Amino acid sequence: MAYKLLTPGPLTTSDTVKQAMMIDHCTWDNDYKTITLDIRKRLLALAGVDGTDYTVVLMQGSGSFGVEAVLSSEIGPEDHLLICSNGAYGKRMVQMSERLGLKYTVYEVGDCEIPKASAIKKYLEHQEDITAIAMVHSETTSGILNELEEIAALAKENNQLFIVDAMSSFGGITIDVKALDIDFLISSSNKCIQGVPGFSFIIGKKAEIEQRKDYARSLSLDIYGQFKEMDKDGKWRFTSPTHTVLAFHQALIELEEEGGIKNRNLRYLANNQLLRTKMSDLGFEMVVKEHQGPFITSFYYPKSFPFEFDSFYYYLKERGFVIYPGKISELECFRIGNIGEIYPEDIEELIRIIAEYKEMLAA
Ligand SMILES: *Cc1c(COP(=O)(O)O)cnc(C)c1O
Repeated sequence: MAYKLLTPGPLTTSDTVKQAMMIDHCTWDNDYKTITLDIRKRLLALAGVDGTDYTVVLMQGSGSFGVEAVLSSEIGPEDHLLICSNGAYGKRMVQMSERLGLKYTVYEVGDCEIPKASAIKKYLEHQEDITAIAMVHSETTSGILNELEEIAALAKENNQLFIVDAMSSFGGITIDVKALDIDFLISSSNKCIQGVPGFSFIIGKKAEIEQRKDYARSLSLDIYGQFKEMDKDGKWRFTSPTHTVLAFHQALIELEEEGGIKNRNLRYLANNQLLRTKMSDLGFEMVVKEHQGPFITSFYYPKSFPFEFDSFYYYLKERGFVIYPGKISELECFRIGNIGEIYPEDIEELIRIIAEYKEMLAA
């Protein structure tokens, strides 16, 4: 049975995005290469940059492959990376850095707190050899939205290489990559652009990619190698996920038709506001009290009625909605995403079903 995904990706896509995949394309044909070039051009525009200083590298694999591509290609033997972490995705960057043998330091706060620029400043003062800062923008673990502007300003002031995992935020909120002077921003095909899974993309400074071209520790994830090939005529180095690419191109057109990031953000905000208000009316308490982002929300298991996650999950699924288990360790919670082809009327419908579930349990 088909259902709507209230998850942070893969998420519900439009019928027209799905239909775009009904073509089997070869990878070396001009029509196809043109699509890759157009995707890269559109992503630059969404990031508020032009092709003079920045470029877009598409990378096969899920979002994590894109993050690992950046860490393994751009952090050199002389670098010391400071990783800001307040959830599973910050921790994943730590795991990658450990595996890659990078020199790194972790600045970790709790899942419901945000990394502070003031604390980062102290790290930079005490460890003068820190050359790079990496952070997650929207921490999907909790739904918290980290303070990108302040940390970006600090990185700029100190001339640090600045890496942002904007996986679950890019396309859903305006990120002025140029003004923030971000060196590498990573996102993927199946989050706020509303495509299907299959590749990640890296918006990065050309000069840094050129300068750091010898650092790559992996052939497949080599950003410079991929950039050089792709920049010629739009051909990916190795087999690209053709159907995903076609779907993503359609998704970019639909983002523009919606009125760009500005309008998509308004829709996500409206979904999220409605969800939070109505869930709170039903007695569900939000886990994140401050800095809640507009993409996904964590709720505690309610105590006022006999709640059991699995039965709740299947009850909703049978009625057309799939939600997400919680990811914050030691907290009993679940998550509801509101991104993708989801509108306030879907949230209304979800709330109606949750109210019905609650009544059933109370009876
Ligand atoms: C989705 C996501 C990723 C990538 O996860 P994959 O499972 O590899 O696609 C990374 N960071 C954040 C913040 C995410 O939301």
